[in-house]
Amino acid sequence: MRLILLGPPGVGKGTQAKILVDAHGIPQLSTGDILRSAIANKTPLGLAAKEVMDRGDLVSDQIVNGIVSERLDSPDCKPGFVLDGFPRTIPQADTLGKMLADKGTPLDAVVWMYADRDVLVERILKRAQESGSVRADDNVESIRNRLEVYRKQTEPLVFYYQDLGLLRVVSGMDPIEQVTARIAHVVKLRVHLHS
Ligand code: AMP
Repeated sequence: MRLILLGPPGVGKGTQAKILVDAHGIPQLSTGDILRSAIANKTPLGLAAKEVMDRGDLVSDQIVNGIVSERLDSPDCKPGFVLDGFPRTIPQADTLGKMLADKGTPLDAVVWMYADRDVLVERILKRAQESGSVRADDNVESIRNRLEVYRKQTEPLVFYYQDLGLLRVVSGMDPIEQVTARIAHVVKLRVHLHS
């Protein structure tokens, strides 16, 4: 299964990706996690990305495309993957499409998780409080910017994948188990239709 979880910050992509990983044994590919670990390890990539990430802006397409390309080549991605936080721009989606076409492994579905803005802000702030704010970008200013960046640069991907016939839509405002069940439903539906 090759899936993208698309949606705004705080909608629960990471949570649902981890559940999918446990259920299906396929890796979660989170560009945010990879970048945060580069920052923690003070690698050149981390040093280059830190300031941009702390503000809530996007790291360059070139950098994240490179990360994903390398990651997709790992043997553990053979059976499939769940992409979480990538692609975030149209050029990233174009690049991903080309990479997967070259490998002959197209996407199965793109699950768009949506939620009201107020719910998102509240959740991100709660996550920051509960985790003791391990993320430098979980403050009001950066959250506002991340939501704006999402609206301008990432949300157009909803139409992009709708045009490709890959889009599945799920509310991210329900309890975690319900969202998991909805995702399983919409993803299975597609697999069923094409088998
Ligand atoms: P996330 O953990 O997905 O919320 O990502 C945290 C931050 O990492 C984002 O606000 C961006 O600064 C950066 N980032 C993660 N994924 C991408 C991406 N696909 N393109 C550009 N920047 C990204």
